[in-house]
Amino acid sequence: MNGGNTKSSPYTGGCLCGSIQYEIDKIEPRMGHCHCSMCRKFHGAAFATLGEAKVENFRWTQGEALLTHYKASNGTVRGFCKECGSSMTFAASEDAGELVEFSLGTLNCEIDLRPDAHIYVGSKASWFEVSDDLPQYEERRYREGRAVE
Ligand SMILES: [Zn+2]
Ligand SMILES: [Zn+2]
Repeated sequence: MNGGNTKSSPYTGGCLCGSIQYEIDKIEPRMGHCHCSMCRKFHGAAFATLGEAKVENFRWTQGEALLTHYKASNGTVRGFCKECGSSMTFAASEDAGELVEFSLGTLNCEIDLRPDAHIYVGSKASWFEVSDDLPQYEERRYREGRAVE
């Protein structure tokens, strides 16, 4: 406990109102900026940045009952805080339940990892230009045969 500004685990995060809090022991290296229209709408932003952690390394420490889920027409499920609307989680329709994908912007602490790709750039906002050198994918990318954000 040192004020939540540590780069060592457990990493902590939470929603805007603070009702929902989580801890992560280890964040997996893959984290993409998703430009798909659903992530844009859900986040109200040019793109969503999603990190991922193995289920056993992620736990809600407060307010999980306020976590509300929206299932979109394509089967993707997004979790948000019922009180403040913060976007918290994402799950693909074929999600196997091994990973928790979480909104990186909800972290309370610093991390050493950095986003590694732009995905769904084929549907990115016309008013946003990607100006970094990260790999870009027209749609999703795959890992072990299944889609990841
Ligand atoms: Zn909240
Ligand atoms: Zn997306």
